[in-house]
Amino acid sequence: MKKVNNIAVLTSGGDAPGMNAAVRAVVRTGIYHQMNVYGVMYGYRGMVKNEILPMESKSVANIIQRGGTILKTARCMEFYEPEGRQKAYENLKKHNIDGLIVIGGDGSFKGAQKFSQEYDIPCIGLPGTIDKDIAGTDFTIGFDTAVNTAIDAIDKIRDTADAHDRLFIIEVMGRDAGYIALHSGIATGAEHIMMPEHKAEVEDIIADLQANERRKKLVNLIVVAEGHETGANEVAKMIKHRLPNADTRVCILGHIQRGGTPTCQDRILASRMGYAAVNALIEGTYNVMVGIVNNKIHYTPLDHAVKAKEEMDTDWVKMCKILAS
Ligand code: ADP
Repeated sequence: MKKVNNIAVLTSGGDAPGMNAAVRAVVRTGIYHQMNVYGVMYGYRGMVKNEILPMESKSVANIIQRGGTILKTARCMEFYEPEGRQKAYENLKKHNIDGLIVIGGDGSFKGAQKFSQEYDIPCIGLPGTIDKDIAGTDFTIGFDTAVNTAIDAIDKIRDTADAHDRLFIIEVMGRDAGYIALHSGIATGAEHIMMPEHKAEVEDIIADLQANERRKKLVNLIVVAEGHETGANEVAKMIKHRLPNADTRVCILGHIQRGGTPTCQDRILASRMGYAAVNALIEGTYNVMVGIVNNKIHYTPLDHAVKAKEEMDTDWVKMCKILAS
């Protein structure tokens, strides 16, 4: 097994709170093992354009608590092409880099997998995405913070909904995954959750709201995942049409869910994963994604670390409805 001496770390794709904690863990674990550690700016774009900087312990001081990513992130079209990846390889070689740690989502892992097949540079992936939609891990870096941000906002919306007896339809992020909707909906006591994995019929929701109206339950929260086939505005339109007496409002939470200080859980998850990524390179466990399964570090080959196609546990949805009734 070849010893890895010079490693690079980058953040790629959509940003997620906790990425900085992961970068810090990689840099400090690498330095502890006498490695030279480099930070690549703007994801794969920095590899293609040679924006590669040496990192010291103090480069990552005072960042564990910060959202965003000090290494910046970007999407890079050139990396989809073999020529772009060759440029990236040549630039890494200029710094003698012999190990790469990629913090990002499934797209970033596809890029890392191709790169590691073409070139003799082992790659390790860390799942950094608020959507929690990656196979091979129970949690992803940023999910817990995003859910807590959504909960905080929905709690505030409930106060005003309660004061006015209003029905609120709240759209949360998650691309084509409903985990943020499911978790934030349960944790805020929402009456209904609409997400791509579990089609909620608007007609059923309307019937339920009508029953609530009859028993004078006028405050209702509906959490809609952005990936649900009917968006929040559309749902509101349908409800207004059928329940003209309902005082209906829509709130789309948007990008606030990406920012902010990472929660304890995300900081610890990112720290454990960053530490495990460097250990994987030392032990010769190459081209894997670091995950957490049953609270233990778990390695999945990069080519399996794709979007999770898990069935949503529909009992959670049933539970949510029972508890909110
Ligand atoms: P995420 O990692 O959040 O899923 P993207 O899907 O945008 O975000 O991927 C981030 C970057 O990874 C892309 O801009 C591109 O540079 C690289 N990438 C994604 N998919 C591939 C692929 N199939 N081949 C090569 N590079 C890829």
